[in-house]
Amino acid sequence: MIATKDSPLLEVQGLKKYFPIRRGVFSRVVGYVRAVDGISFSIRKGETLGLVGESGCGKTTAGRTILRLLEPTEGRIFFEGRDVLEQSPRKLRELRQDMQIVFQDPYGSLNPRMTVRAIVEEGLIVHRRGTRQERLEAVIETLKEVGLGPEAIARYPHEFSGGQRQRISIARALILQPKFLVLDEPLSALDVSLQSQIINLLMDLRQKHDLTYLFISHDLSVVEYLSDRVAVMYLGQIVELATSQELYSQPLHPYTQALLSAIPRINPGHRPERIRLEGDVPSPAKPPSGCRFHPRCPWAKAVCKVKEPRRLDLNGHEVCCHAVEKQVLGTGEYG
Ligand code: SF4
Repeated sequence: MIATKDSPLLEVQGLKKYFPIRRGVFSRVVGYVRAVDGISFSIRKGETLGLVGESGCGKTTAGRTILRLLEPTEGRIFFEGRDVLEQSPRKLRELRQDMQIVFQDPYGSLNPRMTVRAIVEEGLIVHRRGTRQERLEAVIETLKEVGLGPEAIARYPHEFSGGQRQRISIARALILQPKFLVLDEPLSALDVSLQSQIINLLMDLRQKHDLTYLFISHDLSVVEYLSDRVAVMYLGQIVELATSQELYSQPLHPYTQALLSAIPRINPGHRPERIRLEGDVPSPAKPPSGCRFHPRCPWAKAVCKVKEPRRLDLNGHEVCCHAVEKQVLGTGEYG
């Protein structure tokens, strides 16, 4: 793929990540958990794409597979036009400097035996950047950017609050001056008052460093605030993708509509009627036939059980649903 100035920073094509299910004394593979099952999207430089869905829908696995923290089963990933899956180990290490991740759990993701300096500096050491003194200066400068003073460097993670720990995680991701960050539920372990502080910090950093984010969250109200476009995942697949403005004002897919109807709104007059989804999310080891959402969908008809809906692109608003196809384009077998 040849990069031009209009090329997306990141392009994901048909990405799949299956985990084998093993049984018996010989650990025979008896099936696969299809955590991510053929997702495609792109992100422009400086853009934030929100990736939302209920827990277990595959969004975290998608984020990690894009960074090759997990090896994809199938599909292609391009970063600045470079095929991430075709890079040699040395080139991949170079590329990793531009692609970093902030993990969900600031408690579990920071090594309790390392000082903040050691945690934040680690990336510079791994990539052999700077002298000891230069690295120290970079650590102090990066901590300052995330709102922590130089006294933090000699302390350990347990000495900090949850919000401060997440700031340390962000500093660790920023130290290599990446272009792209996967933010994997960075707010879910924080209480509401701290969430808004971290959101503001992420927005400031995005602007200051011209960063591009993939923002993974189950919280649609947070995603709306931070994202330019939003992709909705259900059982390993993207069922709808649109600009934030359009997705929140005119959701087309019944799953998106159900998720949005559950968000508490300040103005109850504009609150859509709550759509309650029946049943739990089915197992990704045995996804339903046809449209995967059909066992829970209030609009499901016979065709939904046997035929997977195609991906429609309605002027940049993408959706996979037989009912929407019939309603908007007048085509398909729904009825
Ligand atoms: Fe519902 Fe059918 Fe649309 Fe799937 S394709 S979301 S089951 S109407």
